[in-house]
Amino acid sequence: MSEAPVTVRFAPSPTGRIHIGNARTALINWLFARKTGGRFLLRFDDTDAERSREEYAEAIARDLAWLGIVPDLVERQSARAERHRAAADRLRASGRLYACYETPDELERRRKRQLARGLPPVYDRAGLGLGDDEKRALEAEGRRPHWRFRLSNDAPDGGIGHRDVAWDDLVLGRRSIDLGSLSDPVLVREDGTYLYTLPSVVDDIELGVTHVIRGDDHVANTAVQIDLFEALGGPVPVFGHHNRLTTASGEGLSKRLGSLSVGALREAGYEPMAVASLAVLIGTSDAVEPAPDLDALAETFDLSHVSHSSARFDPDDIGLLNARLLHAMPYEAAAERLAGLGIGGGAEFWETVRANITRFAEAADWWRVVTGPVAPVVEAEDRAFLATARELLPPEPWDAETWAMWTGAVKAATGRKGKALFLPLRRALTGRDDGPELKRLLPLIGYRNTTDRLS
Ligand code: GLU
Repeated sequence: MSEAPVTVRFAPSPTGRIHIGNARTALINWLFARKTGGRFLLRFDDTDAERSREEYAEAIARDLAWLGIVPDLVERQSARAERHRAAADRLRASGRLYACYETPDELERRRKRQLARGLPPVYDRAGLGLGDDEKRALEAEGRRPHWRFRLSNDAPDGGIGHRDVAWDDLVLGRRSIDLGSLSDPVLVREDGTYLYTLPSVVDDIELGVTHVIRGDDHVANTAVQIDLFEALGGPVPVFGHHNRLTTASGEGLSKRLGSLSVGALREAGYEPMAVASLAVLIGTSDAVEPAPDLDALAETFDLSHVSHSSARFDPDDIGLLNARLLHAMPYEAAAERLAGLGIGGGAEFWETVRANITRFAEAADWWRVVTGPVAPVVEAEDRAFLATARELLPPEPWDAETWAMWTGAVKAATGRKGKALFLPLRRALTGRDDGPELKRLLPLIGYRNTTDRLS
C-alpha cells in the first residue's frame, strides 16, 4: 500500500442527476476517507462534451452537499486535456500507443472469423505491424487512426501471450485477470477524443488518488488500468469494487429512473441520513439501521462487509428508515429546522409529535393542531358530553397529570369510559382520530384552544 495520504475520488459524468446507486459510491468513498483521515476528490468526468452539462455538475455537487459530502477538491477532466494529451504522447513515444485503421465492420468480421475458428475474439494487433508507407496509404484512402494501448502481455516470440494482473480488492479479495484474454483497448478515438480509460488513469496518478473505490461494473477495466498505471509510471492505487443496487424488480439503476435520483428523494421530503444509511448499508452484512450522521455511519462501515452480489433497492425502505430516524431524533437536531418552519413549543412539542410523523414537514401539521385553527370533529350524540367535559376543565397551569385528572372527572360525571370517553375528546381537540398522546398534547394546546374546540 502506498505511503501517500489516503486520497479517494468520486468521478461521475455530469450527464444527468445522480441516483441512489451513485450516491452509494460517493458515500462509500466519503466514509472511507473519514475513517482513514483521507481526502475526498470530486472529479467530473466531463470529456464527453456533447452530453456533459454544467448544470448537471452543479446539481451533483448540491446533491452531495445535501448528503453531507463536502469535497476537499473539485476537478473537471475537461480542464486537464493538456495533461491527457501529454500522457498519450509519452505512450506513443514508448511504443505503448499505436495507430489502428480498421473500421468497426472490419473488426466485427475479424471477430466472427476468430470465433468460428474457436479462438478468443481478441484484437490481433494488426495495427502494430503497419509500416509508415502502409499507414500513409490508409490515410490517403481517407482513414483516420484510432489508438490502442499495447497491453504488456507479449509472448517471448513477440506474439500475444499471457500475463496475469492481480490485485487485492478491498471488497472482493484477491482478483486476477489474464491480459491475454483482453483486446488492446482503444484509448483515443479517430476524432482525437479520449475514451474514459486514459484520462481517468492520468488524473488518478496526477491527483494522487491512492484508493479507487467504485461499482463492480468496473472490475473488468481494472487489469487494463493497472497495466496503464504502470506504463505511465504509476503508482498503482488500491482498488475496491462494491456491489451495485438494482430496482426491486432486479433491473440496474440508471439516470433515467428519475424517481430514485437523489434530487427527487430530497424533494419528496426524506432526510439525507435516511437516504445515506440505506444507500450505504443495503447489500452489506450490517443491519440497515438509520444512522444519525455520517460520522456514526463511518464508525460501523467496513468495505469487507459489502456483499459480492447486487442488492435490491426497495424505495419503501426509505420511508421506513425516514420514520425511524425522526422518531429517534433529539430536539437539538430538530430545533433549528422547527424554527425555520415557524414551529414553537420547544422540546416538549417535538418529543410529543415526532413518533407520529414520517416526514419532517409533517411536524407543521401537528403544530397547527396545537395552535389552531382546528376543525373539531363532533358527532351530534357527543355534544352534551363535550359540554360537560368543557365545564370540568381545570384551570391552568397544566402539566402531564392534567389529562388524567380531567378525564377522570369527566368519566365520573358522564359514566363514559374507554373509547366512548376518549375518542370524542380527541376528535374535538385535534380534528383527527389518532395522533400523539393527549396527556402530552393537552398542555401544549392549552386552556383557551381547548375550551374553544369543545364549544
Ligand atoms: N466516470 C466513471 C463512471 O462514472 C468513473 C469510473 C471510476 O470510478 O473509475 O463510471
